[in-house]
Amino acid sequence: MTRATFQGYRCSLCGAEFAPQDWLYTCPHDGGNLDVVLDTPAIRQQTSPRQISAQTEPSLWRYLPLLPVDDPGGQGTPLRTAGWTPLYSPPALKAQTSLHALWVKDEGKNPTASFKDRASAVVVARARQIGAEVVVTASTGNAGAALAGMAAAVGHRAVIFAPRTAPPAKIAQLLVFGAQVILVDGNYDNAFDLTVQAAQEFGWYCRNTGYNAFTAEGKKTAALEIFEQVILPNRLDRPLCVFVSVGDGNIISGIHKGFKDLYALGWLETMPRLFGVQSTGSAAVANAFFAGTEEITPVQAATLADSISVDLPRDGVRAVRAARQTGGAYVLVSDDAILQAIAALGKAGIFAEPAGATAYAGLLEALKSGQIQPDDPVVVINTGSGLKDVKSAMRAVTEAPVIEPNLNALKRLLEKNLR
Ligand SMILES: *Cc1c(COP(=O)(O)O)cnc(C)c1O
Ligand SMILES: [Zn+2]
Repeated sequence: MTRATFQGYRCSLCGAEFAPQDWLYTCPHDGGNLDVVLDTPAIRQQTSPRQISAQTEPSLWRYLPLLPVDDPGGQGTPLRTAGWTPLYSPPALKAQTSLHALWVKDEGKNPTASFKDRASAVVVARARQIGAEVVVTASTGNAGAALAGMAAAVGHRAVIFAPRTAPPAKIAQLLVFGAQVILVDGNYDNAFDLTVQAAQEFGWYCRNTGYNAFTAEGKKTAALEIFEQVILPNRLDRPLCVFVSVGDGNIISGIHKGFKDLYALGWLETMPRLFGVQSTGSAAVANAFFAGTEEITPVQAATLADSISVDLPRDGVRAVRAARQTGGAYVLVSDDAILQAIAALGKAGIFAEPAGATAYAGLLEALKSGQIQPDDPVVVINTGSGLKDVKSAMRAVTEAPVIEPNLNALKRLLEKNLR
């Protein structure tokens, strides 16, 4: 059964429309990413911001009327705890940035510790609905961990392809969640292509980012939460600025979709400005933005932020538009700046993996360049937990001293440090 509000798909490149068929991925004409089309008047009849906020559902499933899937069930499992992540207003970061209104949304608090749980939860719901027995994805680590975790939660089969170089914690998650894990002797882009072929060959349902239209629908729930947690309760007199890191570009285009849905519903008055942040070593989307085009030229990605290390972004066109159509921009940061941002967030009690800290590094850069003013209200999204990649975390800090376990040794150390 298809939800009454799910009307079909529209190609982001040629605008062709397609009925809500079960196994459609990208546009058959030009390979463009498909936007899910919803029946806005029907949603408006079913619910309202007031009704949504009155709920107690502490997960992204509070937005079921705005999602193109049926309720997946799974009560009492981690599938029901994806999303509805905490929002902080850290004094230490306000002091560092001199911003009057600054929030950090911590996606590291998702069940498998990254933003990707939003997409994977909705894709697993979709798989259950269309009777797909096996879900497969390519992943730099987090998307796979999220799919493995969400699938395990409800006893669904998952197959994950990841580069063999993925951080060990992410590979451990895949294995512990009981997915069939295949490490590819190559990069993420190689894994991506293999996954698409395997899905076709074996009839598996493919979750790949920038390929499956439902990932963006899951990711848009972060925008719905920012609407509920930041925009509704605060009377902002300037447009909200949202900073998020960009690899394939599916998170930023999902967030854009969320705000566009809210705008179409008439619930959102002012479109937030979306700022995509990339590493200088993996800047394919930013390059297109700066060149004033939507044409994405692949790069040879090299950054310590593995989650945003992408040669050919699979959702690049919509990712460029997300910034361009909202009066936002792209910002580039160095790997050094990313490590410094890990340390800065850490001192505010927030532990981010490199790709998560990238967004905060981007905010600092945008302040320096004058793109952001002190009275701009800002949300920074930390997309993943620092526990995902402790090796990089250790590079962001100085090593701890080792002493003999007695008071004299401690006194000597403290004297040395005081001097
Ligand atoms: C996937 C991911 C990103 C980037 O998302 P895209 O959709 O690839 O742009 C950023 N941070 C983390 C932690 C991620 O896992
Ligand atoms: Zn098309």
